[in-house]
Amino acid sequence: MRVPVLTYHSNNVGGNDYASNDHVALAEDLARIHAAGFRIVPLSRVVAVRLGLADPASVENAVALCCDDGSWFDWHDMDHPTFGPQKGFAGILREFGAASGAPVHMTSFVIVSPAARAVLDRTCLAGRGWWTDAWWADAEREGLIAIESHSWDHNHATLPETAQRDGRRGTFRSIDTHAVADAEIRQANDWLDAHVRTPRAGLFAFPYGETNEYLLRDYLPNHSAQHRLLAAFGTDSRPVGFDSDRWNLPRYVCGHHWQSSDALVRLLGARG
Ligand SMILES: [Zn+2]
Repeated sequence: MRVPVLTYHSNNVGGNDYASNDHVALAEDLARIHAAGFRIVPLSRVVAVRLGLADPASVENAVALCCDDGSWFDWHDMDHPTFGPQKGFAGILREFGAASGAPVHMTSFVIVSPAARAVLDRTCLAGRGWWTDAWWADAEREGLIAIESHSWDHNHATLPETAQRDGRRGTFRSIDTHAVADAEIRQANDWLDAHVRTPRAGLFAFPYGETNEYLLRDYLPNHSAQHRLLAAFGTDSRPVGFDSDRWNLPRYVCGHHWQSSDALVRLLGARG
């Protein structure tokens, strides 16, 4: 088992070329991934195989796709105030699926707290109400984009306060006690189960790709009855294999681990 997990950020719109825009990058990468003979499988299947719950043959020659933060740019076609019309990730996936006949799926790791998103909409986007969760249940129903947790409030540096009460924001390494881990991780799963999805053991992606010994060795393995996660993802640059840490599964990040479709194809080809 060696499955690359590719991560995109739909809020990354700083121009209209591959390097500055993850929508351009995703559309180009989908075509190249397909032409190189890879198929797209749901991230939940990769986790199921890693945990011995599904047949490894079901992820042969496969990649899985995910995106982070959960804004409207994942779902809606948007008119960016500076860079003009942007097709949402959902539309890019549907268009590619229709043209290629290939199955498509993406997992969106969303920032769950409505109050945190209302602030982030102003501090990180254009302040136009583009970070509401109005589309999440529709996405779950359609089955194209699965909604999973990227924590309660991302412990984001631009929020006036977060679950991390000591003010150590802008990092996830400071989520290092039971109380704050419970507020960031268990609380987020509770909200998603109550508002968006059929209650289930979920997936988690660490904000900033950052974690710590407390989360990896104590909270995640020892408190699963509370947090109800199946697995968590960081951002180590390697494919998911049977030897990957269930609580820190690797993901490649667009713009960070690869900067062009050529580089992505090389990265996939080197997967051994
Ligand atoms: Zn994030």
